Amino acid sequence: LEIKAVRGMHDLLGDEAAKWQYVEARIRSILETFGYSEIRTPVLESAEVFTQAVGDNTDIVEKQMYTVQDRSHPESGKSETLVLRPEATSSVVRAVLEHQLHRAPHPQRLYYVLPMFRYERPQKGRLRQFHQIGAELIQDPSPEADAEMIVLLDTIFRTFGLKDFEIRINSVGSEACRPQYKEALKAYLHPHLEALCEQCKKRYERAPMRILDCKVESCKVIAEKAPRMVDHLDAESKAHFEGVKSRLREARVAFVEDTSIVRGLDYYSRTAFEFTSSLLGAQSALGGGGRYDELASRFGAPAFPAVGWALGFERLIMALQAKDLLSGGVKKPDFYFAPLGEKAFEALYALSIQMKRQGVSVEFSYERDKKLKWLMKQADRSGARFTLLLGEDELAAGSAALKNMSTGEQEKLSLADIEAELKRRACHEA
Ligand code: AMP
Repeated sequence: LEIKAVRGMHDLLGDEAAKWQYVEARIRSILETFGYSEIRTPVLESAEVFTQAVGDNTDIVEKQMYTVQDRSHPESGKSETLVLRPEATSSVVRAVLEHQLHRAPHPQRLYYVLPMFRYERPQKGRLRQFHQIGAELIQDPSPEADAEMIVLLDTIFRTFGLKDFEIRINSVGSEACRPQYKEALKAYLHPHLEALCEQCKKRYERAPMRILDCKVESCKVIAEKAPRMVDHLDAESKAHFEGVKSRLREARVAFVEDTSIVRGLDYYSRTAFEFTSSLLGAQSALGGGGRYDELASRFGAPAFPAVGWALGFERLIMALQAKDLLSGGVKKPDFYFAPLGEKAFEALYALSIQMKRQGVSVEFSYERDKKLKWLMKQADRSGARFTLLLGEDELAAGSAALKNMSTGEQEKLSLADIEAELKRRACHEA
């Protein structure tokens, strides 16, 4: 076949889609319990949303954005460069500012479930279209807000029974103390410049902290002995970091301090964190986030405090599957209807429509004149809890046979009150 999905972008089918729905529904319900409400932003944004917020010399902006040239304006002849959203925090902040949500009298809790697009080299756990669920807590500067965010993400993973992850946290300081730290870091790195990878040589001037996060072995060795941001925090950032940690200890959420967590985006300040899992292989991050009190000012707007995270949906599914924690995800019909003969087909067709309209799931094949053996094979395949069998003789006698597919037991139901009988047995999920 010549026509295929774009490399690094996948179709989601059948049972896989059912598992996604199950995972997504549970996560939405937790988010809503924590008081978060959904925000959906457009797939396309002006390029400035990301170049300004994420930062010019980050991987996302330099190498990974899918850009679209909009049609030119009929009068000015100018056309705008648009970007397929590579991450959503920048879009959310754009929307918050546009709708003045940050001026509301209370902090705003927002969440999103959205596809992201990044031009990366596809590999296990790394796609070009992937999906994130994210949460943002706007207009709250307290360490309690950061702790809530981390507890929330921990709760989400644990609700599925997932325990194989580590929480790594760090503080990347604020505008008040980061410039001095960067100077100290550059002074340390200077004699090692030649030994750094090509990418890190470029990072040295404009983004030296990102060298600490480099995965190249020779850079890692140098980074190990580098001065640490946590030792250069000013009093306020230090108190904030201590506050976050003590709230996590109170909530009995285990974490490790990891000074290499700097995150690949420019907008973070103070708390930065990542949830990693050895179940994932090389791309080990399940999710991550941090505080971004300085992001709004990157749009030229007055700054407001905020903290957020995003989890990688595909990676969460991978981790859950590795631990066999997704068996509950696939929905099966309550009933398989098996008609033997034309009259039974007519009766069960009408009944199947009535039942579905009343919220009872029924699988019914529109293929006619099928033998019992074929019907029972289909019933097995469907995974239905019960099979309703109707033949010509039973129809004449006003009854049908209901087979419990797990026990094999069979009972006789009167057709007179069949709807009520089936409804009573249907599994109504809350
Ligand atoms: P980031 O916005 O880069 O911090 O990513 C947040 C989370 O999204 C990561 O922890 C991953 O779980 C997931 N993620 C990031 N990039 C990709 C990708 N290219 N493919 C799949 N998942 C990704």
